[in-house]
Amino acid sequence: MFKKYFREIEFCTYCPKMCKFCCPVGNASGVESYSPWGRMTLLHMVREGIVDFNREIAHTMYQCSGCMLCREYCDHLIEVPLVMIAAREKAAIENKLPWEVVEYFKFWKQHQNPFGDNLSARVRTLLPESYFNQDAQVMYLPGAGHIYNNPSVIQDTFKLFEAMDIDYVACYDGDPIDCGTTLRELGLRKEYGANAAKLADKISRCKVVVSGSPAAVYELKVEFEQMGLKVPPKVFHIAEFLWPMVKDGRFDVRKQFPQRVMYHDADYLGRYLGVYDEPRSILGAVLREAPVEFSRNREKADSCGANGGLPITNPDLAKEIAKARLAEFYESDATALAVACPDAQRIFQSVDDNIEVLDVINILARCI
Ligand code: SF4
Ligand code: SF4
Repeated sequence: MFKKYFREIEFCTYCPKMCKFCCPVGNASGVESYSPWGRMTLLHMVREGIVDFNREIAHTMYQCSGCMLCREYCDHLIEVPLVMIAAREKAAIENKLPWEVVEYFKFWKQHQNPFGDNLSARVRTLLPESYFNQDAQVMYLPGAGHIYNNPSVIQDTFKLFEAMDIDYVACYDGDPIDCGTTLRELGLRKEYGANAAKLADKISRCKVVVSGSPAAVYELKVEFEQMGLKVPPKVFHIAEFLWPMVKDGRFDVRKQFPQRVMYHDADYLGRYLGVYDEPRSILGAVLREAPVEFSRNREKADSCGANGGLPITNPDLAKEIAKARLAEFYESDATALAVACPDAQRIFQSVDDNIEVLDVINILARCI
């Protein structure tokens, strides 16, 4: 890993901490070694033989939410999360994983997903049987987080398909169903690769895959491709798939959504996939006015803390990050928070179940 990421480690070590102010983990913890500069400098010191890659240093590499916000403020476009994941893979090889990661994987192995339960069986209870056709050319891949925490997103997606006379999209209900993002983020590369190969095998004959989970879209479009797995030629987030049809007036908006809504850009949908306009455009079609914006939005949006495996390795810190993001929502006159990501929805709701956190799909479906 040191050879592959020599440039990144060198640039960060000798950088005057230009991105330090933006790092949600460094800010929420107040710990210097949890800042991008701090973690990269530790790796530099390991490479130089100044310190050993011991358990403590290995565990420090898990103090990153993978949000990619530091890249936005970096003149060299350094992608710190990629180096953190490589360091975590080293920790896995050297048997220096935090116990939370070991426990996570034990649970995942038993259930083949992070939530428990048989998610493929669960998804079959959500929709009529006619929606499941494993030979379909266009497949909707439900996010594990949606199946477990907010299945109404899946049901509303198919309600919208029906309203638009889209009858060619089938719902995937095979095994595995989890895209394995968290395995990859935690450095469990071998386990992630095995799961990815099985999932790619099940969906590769499709022409198009659509998902409401930004992480699933990212895995298929970028990580699976990089691993040389055969993936469908077109992979879309549901907002990208639906927006052209909403724009073309494929269904009647019967009522406007009555609340003021603020929109949060999720890390994977925004900085990883570059999808900023479509969720806003969909909301714009059913709200009285454009969604309320956070002062830091789009590429510069603050993280919600839900990624990078942080909710597993440091759940309190992950929630502090989500709380910090919500502070601006509380100050606004919005009464609902819109997201287009199951992980963002889950973490926001876990820190405050009094606020209404809605998926863009739920909002759209309420207006037809
Ligand atoms: S990511 Fe860029 S700005 Fe941040 S510490 Fe590294 S080199 Fe500096
Ligand atoms: S990816 Fe996010 S959490 Fe990780 S170092 Fe960069 S800003 Fe900090």
